[in-house]
Amino acid sequence: MLIKFEKRDSKNKVKLLSFLKENSSLAKLKFICESAAEIEELSSGKAAYIKPLIEAIFPQAQIYLSNEELFPQTLKSGFNFPSSFEIIAGPCAVEDGKTYLKIAAFLSSLGIKFMRAPLFKPRRSTYCFQGIGEQGFEIISKARDLYKIKTVTELMSSCDLKNAIKYCDIIQIGARNMRNYELIRSISLLGKTMIIKRAQGASIVEWLMSAEYAAAANKSIIFCERGDHGLFSDGGINFNLALKAKKELGITVIADVSHSSLGSDYVEAGVLSAAIFGLDGAMVEIHQNPQKAKVDGKHAISFKQFEKILEKLNKIKKCLKN
Ligand code: PEP
Ligand code: MN
Repeated sequence: MLIKFEKRDSKNKVKLLSFLKENSSLAKLKFICESAAEIEELSSGKAAYIKPLIEAIFPQAQIYLSNEELFPQTLKSGFNFPSSFEIIAGPCAVEDGKTYLKIAAFLSSLGIKFMRAPLFKPRRSTYCFQGIGEQGFEIISKARDLYKIKTVTELMSSCDLKNAIKYCDIIQIGARNMRNYELIRSISLLGKTMIIKRAQGASIVEWLMSAEYAAAANKSIIFCERGDHGLFSDGGINFNLALKAKKELGITVIADVSHSSLGSDYVEAGVLSAAIFGLDGAMVEIHQNPQKAKVDGKHAISFKQFEKILEKLNKIKKCLKN
């Protein structure tokens, strides 16, 4: 923990010293120069705990925490996909058994191993389709048995847990719930791999600090960049941010190239870019008849479009190998 303060602030320096004496007997305070001090040897999580206490007695100071001090457990998180770039594909929402199983059959025939299986939909308007809910667990379970595909379901509350444990392989924390720390903590206890999407406008640090609520119990975490597309902006995906998170922090990062897109015509570029950026995978929304989709038909791609994307992706993967 690095603390910067005004050179002449000797009164507060004394206060800081006595605070440390009282609160963290194990920590060492080292004055680097007249206007900066470093607190070393703080135990895991302790720095984040005492930062606001120091700020309270020392309001003008600027306090910096290292990544290890901010999210010690999340730095050890990850998830091993079967290959260097995997696609999680599927509809925005499971609509009915027949349509869902058709999509599952199609994806499985192309070697896709992870399938979106959303039953509970977070919608801006309460009047929009909210997902088929609990009754959908049977449908996704069929897809899992028939096609040996892993299911990815978003949970928005901890009341659906019993079935989720049984039928979901991966549980998604959606962008809206990245800041729902209690939900993240309770889902982490299920022992399932979790996808944590970046909330719109959240920084990398905020994203990882959210994951820290899960990582003590569960290190199987996939981070998903989904862009800042909002009600009042055209948004767009932030590949630089995603790559920075992956490279500097060593975490597993994929890109949701559908929700961050401006429409189905933009999805191909998104998938290929995610591969070129060296991310671990992409999430894609697909529907056998996008014009009839109950949710997000505007950016859902057709089966034909998906096949074309895979062809190009394979070519790019070969190029990237050389
Ligand atoms: C979704 O993946 O179904 C979804 C609602 O995404 P987001 O949380 O990114 O809006
Ligand atoms: Mn969607």
